[in-house]
Amino acid sequence: MGWYDIAIVGGGFSGVATIANIVRDTTKPLAIAVVSREPRGVFGPAYSTPRDEHLLNVPAANMGLFSDSHRHFFEWVTAQGITAAPGDYLPRKLYAQYLQSILDGARDTAREKGIRLDWFQGEAEDIEDHAEYLSIRSGGEGIDARVVVLAIGNALHKGDASPVIDQPWKFDFKTLTPAQKKIALIGSGLTAADIIISILDTGWQGEITCYSGHAALPRAHLAGYDAAKRIALPPDQYISQRLSTIMQALRREIKSGGREWHYIVDSLRPLTQDIWRSLNTTDRERLVKKYFTLWNVHRHRYAPHIAERIDAAIKSGQLKMVKARATSAEHKPDGITLSLQTKAGAETVHGFDLAFRCTGVDYKTENTPLLKNIIAKGLAKPADNDYGIRASDNMLIYRDRPCEMYALGAPLFGALFETTAVPELRAQAKLISDAFLEDSIASKSRAIG
Ligand SMILES: Cc1cc2nc3c(=O)[nH]c(=O)nc-3n(C[C@H](O)[C@H](O)[C@H](O)COP(=O)(O)OP(=O)(O)OC[C@H]3O[C@@H](n4cnc5c(N)ncnc54)[C@H](O)[C@@H]3O)c2cc1C
Repeated sequence: MGWYDIAIVGGGFSGVATIANIVRDTTKPLAIAVVSREPRGVFGPAYSTPRDEHLLNVPAANMGLFSDSHRHFFEWVTAQGITAAPGDYLPRKLYAQYLQSILDGARDTAREKGIRLDWFQGEAEDIEDHAEYLSIRSGGEGIDARVVVLAIGNALHKGDASPVIDQPWKFDFKTLTPAQKKIALIGSGLTAADIIISILDTGWQGEITCYSGHAALPRAHLAGYDAAKRIALPPDQYISQRLSTIMQALRREIKSGGREWHYIVDSLRPLTQDIWRSLNTTDRERLVKKYFTLWNVHRHRYAPHIAERIDAAIKSGQLKMVKARATSAEHKPDGITLSLQTKAGAETVHGFDLAFRCTGVDYKTENTPLLKNIIAKGLAKPADNDYGIRASDNMLIYRDRPCEMYALGAPLFGALFETTAVPELRAQAKLISDAFLEDSIASKSRAIG
């Protein structure tokens, strides 16, 4: 399959952002390969939804792909003749079109600069170090490159051949009928919110029950949010402290009044990676087990009008939130039966017409074969608690001159904690592009095999 200066595994946001930075910034011709499970133009689970009602959870003005141009997406939207305000939460489907336009632009620039840009659809199963180059193994073939970037993103919690629908965004909600009376959602995060809105949009009148350990839905963004109200939190109260001390400081700050909690939570964001790095292993595990849901529902919020509709469904009794973990599901003559684990013990509930898996991202390395394989070979170091892999400050995970491997996004959860949304990913993509280009690889390009 030839030899490349750089090969990027994953064609979602992180892969596209890495390509776009490299193609824009390089002054030399290069050979770039992308290896992705999906065909070119399918941008991971977040931006593959075909549905207009599935919205971005970040305002348009902060969704730009380039770290030096946060408004780039918003400017693209207005250039399309679409009327939108900077604070709008726009359809994720529209964001996919934006990513496509970036990719098309990168392809045109690549042509002008004499850059080869090849896309391979397939699963990267393993990576081997051949001293002069790294070889990505995919379907019995090898894609060889001096530098590899892992942009493999979110492994979603997988199903188990149960009747639960695993890719809920792809469901055709028009097929719901009045004869169907009960729907179960497993999980209560942003995916559950997507599905609740899609169901409500059809006018379906049955009962939706949402099961999760905390039964906590995301909180709403503040209408009229003013970014200037964020504050500089004193780093010494948060970094290199025990988790209990950090939680006390946070509660104190929120209670001290003067501004809504939204601003305090967002003010913590510049510190979260350093806080996480400075926690000991026990506190990290405690944070994930005890506070991660709490953090997520406050940090990853949805648009105010989505919150209003969901609140109304709860008030009317159409939507029920239940604290219980669904452990299995099976078809029975009266519909789908769920086995649940509640505080009181195990129980079963019967008679669901449909059940959707809305459990989100699985950060455990054990469920990502590529990471398991490269860790076993010593090409990456596992992060504490088995949450992915470690990286240096410029996202390097492996170096054995001349070969290098970088990673960004979800595989670095254990190393960075805050590493899954566009504001973090665009910065990481730029760091990788800069580190790679600094190494002036074009001069070293040569054909192998
Ligand atoms: C439903 C949802 C909504 C979201 N909404 C927002 C939002 O509004 N704003 C925001 O900032 N963030 C949002 N996010 C966070 C989101 O994770 C990031 O914005 C971004 O999409 C992550 O991109 P990525 O490329 O790192 O990962 P992914 O989108 O997961 O893409 C990774 C790609 O790599 C491929 N891949 C993985 N492993 C392999 C392999 N071994 N071989 C070949 N290919 C492989 C995958 O198939 C996929 O194409 C959302 C996430 C989800 C799940």
